Amino acid sequence: MRRSRKDAPTYHDIPAGKYDAEFLLGEYKRLLLARSGDALVREAAASGGVITEVLCAGLARGEFDAVLSVGFAGDDPVTPCYLVSRTPEELRARSGSVYSYVSPTQLKEAVAGLGGRRLAVVCQPCLVPLVRRWQERGEHDVRAVVSFFCGYNMTHEATHYLLGKAGVRPEDVAWIRYRHGDYPGGFAVKPRNGEPVGFGKESYELVNLQFVRRGCSHCSLYMGEDADLSCGDAWIQEHPNLTAVLARTEAGLSLLEASQERLEFYALKERDLLAMHLHNLVYKKYGNSWFLRLLTVVFRDLLPKPLAPFRLLSALSRHRRSRKIGVSVPDLKPVEKLRG
Ligand SMILES: Cc1cc2nc3c(=O)[nH]c(=O)nc-3n(C[C@H](O)[C@H](O)[C@H](O)COP(=O)(O)OP(=O)(O)OC[C@H]3O[C@@H](n4cnc5c(N)ncnc54)[C@H](O)[C@@H]3O)c2cc1C
Ligand code: SF4
Repeated sequence: MRRSRKDAPTYHDIPAGKYDAEFLLGEYKRLLLARSGDALVREAAASGGVITEVLCAGLARGEFDAVLSVGFAGDDPVTPCYLVSRTPEELRARSGSVYSYVSPTQLKEAVAGLGGRRLAVVCQPCLVPLVRRWQERGEHDVRAVVSFFCGYNMTHEATHYLLGKAGVRPEDVAWIRYRHGDYPGGFAVKPRNGEPVGFGKESYELVNLQFVRRGCSHCSLYMGEDADLSCGDAWIQEHPNLTAVLARTEAGLSLLEASQERLEFYALKERDLLAMHLHNLVYKKYGNSWFLRLLTVVFRDLLPKPLAPFRLLSALSRHRRSRKIGVSVPDLKPVEKLRG
């Protein structure tokens, strides 16, 4: 449930402790920064490769038999879907974020053939309640629910729009990545007969405005509120490729503990997490400003898509990102013990 925008905390309120942490962040047992110790895993991942590492460790230990997460099937490199990974190798090949809305029906269909399997599920915050219902009713044996911060999500039309901007036809696509290249990465598409082409992450800000799903515009979920583990980007100016992690349950904490050999952990103050995500938290928990609402109506509903000045707005967004988003944490403090 959203609160009135006039009650939203500002950047000045955070250091003074004037905010409702439970309302903004939800309950959690441990808050950390983390990243994979393996540079190749980090390179392929959206941020620090934490989701990939914890679930690979769970598969390797035999804690679950399969992981359900979103990626691209071998015969369709353009349309994302839920895939079943049974080995760490399969899961590593699917690391990285897919910025395209996935419906509850797609998740239900994916789980249907997996009766009797012990599962871990990665899903959007809005799908976590569905997975919790399966657990409560004993419909599927889900051992871990991992979610991510979800500021916006887009219809799949957005991917086709970006393919058009990159000049690649869907039938010519070899692969698509939404977080390709140096952190934070950006949209990239590799044509079958050519080099990858793409745009920085800032281009999503415009694309979000144009293709935000109507249900997503009204959604107040942000940090995977009811998952075992919730992960997002750690916008720290001095240190790229870190994941902000909230272990919300005992199961989530155990997943992290069991991955300690593969992950590096660092301290994260609640106020730093709030400051780096305040732009999205305010929008999610208190609603958009009138200006952003107006922009969404103009770009999504009124202006024909081909007329949107893609490169100009991407440049403005890059400028805004460099000025407004990110906190300074010069020295990372390693964390050895996850409990106590
Ligand atoms: C639609 C979407 C919106 C996001 N919005 C924000 C945001 O506003 N702010 C922010 O800080 N972070 C956001 N994130 C989270 C961020 O992009 C990373 O997922 C997070 O930082 C974890 O990174 P990682 O390197 O630990 O994950 P990785 O190690 O890269 O693992 C990612 C895992 O998630 C799975 N996956 C990818 N996309 C999906 C999907 N759509 N549904 C289900 N499983 C998926 C992959 O198969 C893989 O197993 C968003 C992610 C998505 C998918
Ligand atoms: S914004 Fe909300 S409704 Fe949309 S995918 Fe994310 S959690 Fe689901």
